[in-house]
Amino acid sequence: MVPGVMQEHSQPEALSLYDRLLARGWRMTAQRRAVSRALDGEHLHLTADEVFARAQALLPEVSLATIYNTLNDLVAMGELREIAAARGPARYDPNMAPHHHLMCVDCGAIRDVDLAPADLDLRPEPGHGFELLAVDVTLRGRCPACADDA
Ligand SMILES: [Zn+2]
Ligand SMILES: [Zn+2]
Repeated sequence: MVPGVMQEHSQPEALSLYDRLLARGWRMTAQRRAVSRALDGEHLHLTADEVFARAQALLPEVSLATIYNTLNDLVAMGELREIAAARGPARYDPNMAPHHHLMCVDCGAIRDVDLAPADLDLRPEPGHGFELLAVDVTLRGRCPACADDA
């Protein structure tokens, strides 16, 4: 067990993306259902192509354009986090609880880490007058599988 890594069921009250969307009364078309079901799970950080593949398994006629539109809508609604990866395409994360990311520099695996908020308060300096809106911390390392290969 890795200290700090979120354990399964650590937040029993946390609803899946699909249940959150139902709860807020989002009009659930077959396409939207496939996309939100594709984003069901823990430690999920999928690229748009990966969401597409998973959604297609549920709804073969879903299009990549629909995937992109729905992902953008969900990000704008605050129901999905877009993570800009240092390399490669953006990834989409349905876990809206505050958390940071642990990323493997070799295989790109990403785990959610539930750390105390880092000491990143910018007031009054050195904030350069910026209003702080969000903090995204990525801790880089090597996952156990990649460390075994080294
Ligand atoms: Zn790895
Ligand atoms: Zn995450």
